[in-house]
Amino acid sequence: MTDKKETRRCLNCGSPITGRSDKLFCCGRCKNEWHNKMTGSEKRRREKVFGILWRNYKILELMLEGEEHTPEIATLAENGFRPDFITGYQRFRTGREEFRCFDITYNKTEARLYNIRRAPELL
Ligand SMILES: [Zn+2]
Repeated sequence: MTDKKETRRCLNCGSPITGRSDKLFCCGRCKNEWHNKMTGSEKRRREKVFGILWRNYKILELMLEGEEHTPEIATLAENGFRPDFITGYQRFRTGREEFRCFDITYNKTEARLYNIRRAPELL
């Protein structure tokens, strides 16, 4: 590769952008569409999902700091934990499953979480 300058792409549609180096969109319509996405229902949905993940994260942090290292999922759920929202998942050959919420990982049985730990190697 001799050309180090990367092609800039429209934030909305991904088309290559030509012209001024500070342009973020290929055209005015894309700029409007992007703005609408960022302020409309897509933004609300994103904030809702992120809020759920963040609540999970804070609950897992409490578990890291607390005495209960194998909390019951039902009890966590009563406090707002949503086990169906994760940021990562890995299944090992052994069948062991590891779940992630940002930089915290855990394993789970039907009823409980266990081996909750920070995973700095993910960062
Ligand atoms: Zn565009």
